[in-house]
Amino acid sequence: MNVLVVNAGSSSLKYQFFDTTEGIVKAKGICERIGIGGKISHKQLLTGKEYEAEIEIASHTQATRLVVECLMNPEYGCVSSMKEIEAVGHRIVHGGPYFFESVLLTDDVLAKLELCRDLAPLHTGAHIMGIKGCLEAMPGTPQVLVFDTAFHSTMPKKAHVYGVPYEMYENYKIRRYGAHGTSHRFVAGEAIKLLGKPAKDTKIITCHLGNGSSISAVDGGKCVDTSMGFTPLAGVIMGTRCGDMDPAVVPFIMEKEGFTPSEMNEFMNKKCGFLGISGISSDCRDIEAAIAEGNERAKLAMDILTYQIKKFIGAYTAAMNGLDAIVFTAGIGENTKALREAVCENMDFFGISFDKEKNNGMKRPYSATCLSTPESKVKVYMIPTNEELMIAADTEEIVSALKK
Ligand code: ADP
Repeated sequence: MNVLVVNAGSSSLKYQFFDTTEGIVKAKGICERIGIGGKISHKQLLTGKEYEAEIEIASHTQATRLVVECLMNPEYGCVSSMKEIEAVGHRIVHGGPYFFESVLLTDDVLAKLELCRDLAPLHTGAHIMGIKGCLEAMPGTPQVLVFDTAFHSTMPKKAHVYGVPYEMYENYKIRRYGAHGTSHRFVAGEAIKLLGKPAKDTKIITCHLGNGSSISAVDGGKCVDTSMGFTPLAGVIMGTRCGDMDPAVVPFIMEKEGFTPSEMNEFMNKKCGFLGISGISSDCRDIEAAIAEGNERAKLAMDILTYQIKKFIGAYTAAMNGLDAIVFTAGIGENTKALREAVCENMDFFGISFDKEKNNGMKRPYSATCLSTPESKVKVYMIPTNEELMIAADTEEIVSALKK
């Protein structure tokens, strides 16, 4: 099936065009500066032909039309008519307490998605514009929504209810939702295949470490806990996000700095983490380079992240009463060898024996690799994530079922 996977942001729309039967991506690209100018960059991956243009893109509808035109272009496209775009799969950041799995778009689904605006205003607004854009540009093409939070909806109450009055859980829907669920689901699924055991007998900790980072406990193929919370600010320190801290720090800083609630939110999202601690950069590569030059604060930032990941591994091993595998994925998890080594060293109590030589000897392009020694009780894997593939697969499954 030909599936267009769309990731709509407030001023951008990223896309990948999959042939799920062949298991390949035929084209991909991005529309940027939607509503504030406009630029499209498109690449046909079978021929390598590219198209780039700075053109006024007033809306997500117009962006979607441009994408469809690119896909149908005789020179750099890959279909000859719109009918060949058989389905659209959307990445949706927040499904709130309403969506527990991927769903086919209907009026009722769209109405429920509107209710998620409160929980992730910027993302949800952008997703709705992307969906409406596709409805207008490709009327009649089935659309599927795939939620980043859905994989975490299996967390039991003891893992997702916070220590605030229960009425706030009921009335304001305040709870741990988690994020990166599609990535955690994908790599956990790959790890289960590598372990070669029935999913129900597996206990896995997935570490999605990128600009945003989250760690999940996956017991029997289902998420039982995750480090991100009500928002993606929670958990370990990230590129620019603070991660977990005493909540009393929030009003304290607000008073000291004279921040409004939205300024404080912006501060915790944009000025903290690697950037705030190191004073250098939010990018792990810059932090590694500074460490190599002897910068103490860069080292501290990396030490904090390492320590926090170790603590999550310990906590989740306890929560699951066991551990078969740890998975590293996303930008940092896939690329930063030193961090993987630092996380896995001195973990022999947990039965983790890390193969440093294999880790250091890894050559690009990286593919799924086992980084633990043969005698290690717990396997350590590096598995490149592929959220788009997961979205395409869900979309195909739901749309194929319609035809039966
Ligand atoms: P996002 O959360 O925005 O999707 P990514 O998963 O792309 O982010 O991760 C970005 C992080 O991964 C950055 O800190 C970056 O330094 C790190 N990273 C990406 N590529 C590499 C690389 N080739 N080598 C080292 N680190 C990398």
